[in-house]
Order: sequence, then C-alpha cells, then structure tokens
Amino acid sequence: MNAHQHFIGGTWTGSEATLPVINPSHGQEMARIARGGAAEIDAAVKAGHAAMDGEWGRLDAASRGRLMLKLAELIRRDAEILAQMESEDVGKPLTLARNDAQVCARYFEYYGGAADKVHGDTIPFQNGFTVMTVYEPHGVVGVIVPWNYPLQMTGRSVAPALAMGNAVVLKPAEDTSLSALHLAKLAAEAGFPAGSLNVVTGLGEEAGAALASHKGIHHISFTGSREVGVLIQTAAAKNTIPVTLELGGKSPQVVFADADLSEAGTVIVKAITQNAGQTCSAGSRVVIEDKIYDSFTADLAKRFKDLRVGSGEQDLDLGPVVNAKQCERVQSYIDLARRDGLTILAEGELGTNVPGDGYYVRPTLIGDVPPDHRLAQEEIFGPVLVAIRVRDEAEALAVANGTEYGLAAGIWTQDLGKALRLSKGIKSGQVFVNNYGAGGGVELPFGGVKGSGHGREKGFEALYGFGAMKMIAIKH
Ligand code: NAP
Repeated sequence: MNAHQHFIGGTWTGSEATLPVINPSHGQEMARIARGGAAEIDAAVKAGHAAMDGEWGRLDAASRGRLMLKLAELIRRDAEILAQMESEDVGKPLTLARNDAQVCARYFEYYGGAADKVHGDTIPFQNGFTVMTVYEPHGVVGVIVPWNYPLQMTGRSVAPALAMGNAVVLKPAEDTSLSALHLAKLAAEAGFPAGSLNVVTGLGEEAGAALASHKGIHHISFTGSREVGVLIQTAAAKNTIPVTLELGGKSPQVVFADADLSEAGTVIVKAITQNAGQTCSAGSRVVIEDKIYDSFTADLAKRFKDLRVGSGEQDLDLGPVVNAKQCERVQSYIDLARRDGLTILAEGELGTNVPGDGYYVRPTLIGDVPPDHRLAQEEIFGPVLVAIRVRDEAEALAVANGTEYGLAAGIWTQDLGKALRLSKGIKSGQVFVNNYGAGGGVELPFGGVKGSGHGREKGFEALYGFGAMKMIAIKH
C-alpha cells in the first residue's frame, strides 16, 4: 500500500517509515501515512520561512483573502470526498462528517473575508508625534490538532493563521491525517504559494514534539489534551513564544425546574452523544435541581435507550470511538461506575449488522454521581453522561465550578435573573442559556479558562491571536 506523503514547500515528499491508518468502524487498515520526525519538521519550518521571505510574505491582505475564498470554494466542491474520507478515518456518522466539511469551508470563507479588515489605531500623543498601531503576522506558526474533528479543527486554526499572513506548519493527529492532506492539495490548487501551508504527518511524541520545540517557530496553536498542552506550553516557554491552548473540559449543563425540559432533554443528550462524546465542549455533567431530578433523569434515560450506534456509513446516532485505546478508556469508566455501585440509568444499543471489529461503546447515563467522584471530575471523552443532584442555585454553581476545567456551560431556566447570575458566576470560556452550541459557530470566540487552556480560537478574536501588534511613533 502506497503511503500518503507530507506536503512541504509545495512538494509531496515521503519518509522511510510509515504508519497505518485504521478505520475505527471495522478496525481494519485503510491507508498508510508517512511517519515524519525532526528532519521533516525542520524542512517544513524552513519552507515556511522561505514563503514568508518570498511570494507569500509579499502578498497583500486582500490577495490572501481571495486565495482563501478560492480554497473555500474548492472545499465545497470536494465536500463529499472529504466527508467520506473523514467518516472512514474518524468513524463518525456520514451526516456529521458532511457538516464538518461545510464548517471547514466556512472557516476559510469567514477568515478570507476578514483578512483585509484587521487594522490598528492612531493614538493621540504629544504634539509633534503621530502614533499608530499595526498588526503583523508572527511569522511561521505551528498548528497541532486532535483527531475528534480533524477538518473543523484544521480549518479553525489554519484559516485565521493564513488570513493574518503567517506561514503554517500543520501536524495532524496520527489517527486522522487524511483530510488535512487533502486540504493541502486543495490549497495548492487554489494557488497558495509554496511553503505557506505545510503538512507533516507522524506521531505526537516525534513530529509533534519536534514542531513544538523548533527554534524557527514563532507561535503555536495547540488543540488537544491538557497533559500534552502542558508539554507544549513548556516547550514554547523555552523559546519564549506565544501559545494558544485549547484543551479539554468537563462541561456542566445546569437544569432548573422552570426550564423547557423537553427542549433541554433533546439538546443535552445530543451534546454528549454527538461524535460519540468525543467533543471538547461536550456537556458531560448534567446538574439537576432536586425537585425534577427523578422525572428529568427518567426522560433522559428513555432518550439514551433509543440511541443507536453503528459504523460511519450506517450513519446512525453515534459511530465508534476513534481507536482501540479510546474504546478501552471509555469502557473503563463505565466499569468503574459499576464497581463503585453507581446507578446505570440507561444504555443505548448497537444497531443491526454493525461490523464486529469496530471500536463501539454504548452511550451510558449514570445517575446520582457524587460531584467529587472520578466520573464527575475527569474528562472521559466518550458518550457517558453523569447526572448530579443539587438542592438549589448556590449548590448548582458550586458543582458547576467544582472541576479543574472551564470550557463551556449550559444553563436551563426561564428565570432571566438566575440565568444572568449563573452566566457570570460560572468560570468557563463560554456559557449557553437555553441552548448548547457545543463547538458550533465559526463567528463565536471560543476557548477555555482554568485547565481548559487560554487564548481564543474562532471569531475575529482568533485573528488577533495570530498576529503581533506593533506600535510606531513618528516624530515630525
Ligand atoms: P492529544 O493526545 O493531546 O493530541 C493532540 C495532538 O497533539 C495530536 O496531534 C497529537 O499527535 C499531538 N501530540 C501528542 N503528543 C505530543 C507531544 N508530546 N508533543 C507535541 N504534540 C503531541 O489529544 P487527543 O487525544 O488527540 O484529543 C483529545 C483531547 O483534545 C481532549 O482532551 C479534548 O477535550 C481536546 N480537544 C479540545 C478542543 C478545544 O477546542 N478546547 C477541541 C478538540 C479536542 P498524535 O495524535 O499523533 O499523538
């Protein structure tokens, strides 16, 4: 089987070693990718520098924007190819993968349109001075993305980085590199100059670590686990470069008796089971006011029992999780719940004719989980929802804030005062009232506080993160 190659300096190039790509729906090898390391990363960073010194660095913002709009068009042209590829690579239901392809295109549209709208200020100062601020690209940016939404995560970081005028070296997750390579192909077709976007595939601890510690990198945008985020920030600190960390979460959905409970039930189940629960902002804890706890968990349980799990192409409610390790990890939390005598309120079912060797986990609802139990504290990253009973608003706030994470939160109530108090009191990067936009909204700034990271992706905010402000004071 020929291995997919890296894309460095506008050229496809291989490595001697290769890695298997497994389709999680049936556990079989479907392709191979090149296993890059320090040498390939070094070549890609050098190609990025050459691009910044050459044609790419000389392009004005409007021209960059036009290239990005062209790329968005090509992504939409190839949306079905990308969706099939992503569904096979990640195991996600085809409908979800189709949405990911559209969202990826939307990132390039949004930031393509924004490229020439980043401007600084003039600042009143002493007589005889004109003072202005301008935004400049950092230079060569390292982008490291995870496997859960490869197309979306790649678009989310690469598009604003390019819009600001940086060159990019992208390291996709070893399990799911195929769509990033296809994007590189489309970028070349759109006319992006050589070296403006480079993709090196390989292992996190080899290619990823080499990228994070490379002295030629001027900024790192990392999306992934907290554990690896700490390594990335440490590597960045050694080179004193800025870093954006988009890490994990244990996001609460707080439900009060006065909420539209039917709507809350629909959204809460979707928010933890979409993408088999492998969503950073999945609402993985449902915090329920005592007086509706029994009836609301009964409703959630019914919804969980109706869920069906199948292969990506069967396109049911959930696909498999991404690999065997993740499957064991999620299952170990469900086993722990049983061992500790927690109440399993409901489990979904496998659909009919689901391939036998895939990495399937049944979506599981667990009741009356103590807020300090490992299931209520640790990111499971699977379709497992823990229900926690609280007496009142004050206890709900304490439980919502009672983990090391702070990514997203949902609040369900018709009482505007309560919604506002909690929106301000909950320590998280985003709060949704009577809705839950896990990960959605290209236009909406997104990021964490506490152990969920720092810096913002998405929205206009992300553009500023990919640039450095310079102050220019002219005496005349
Ligand atoms: P991960 O293990 O941290 O991996 C993320 C990326 O880092 C992958 O490309 C990985 O490469 C690479 N990597 C691994 N070890 C590295 C090292 N020593 N140096 C440099 N790079 C390294 O995370 P994951 O398991 O793929 O993704 C799940 C996590 O991502 C969850 O915690 C989830 O919440 C988080 N996430 C956060 C957001 C957000 O926006 N906040 C969005 C999506 C996911 P390999 O895969 O090749 O090892």
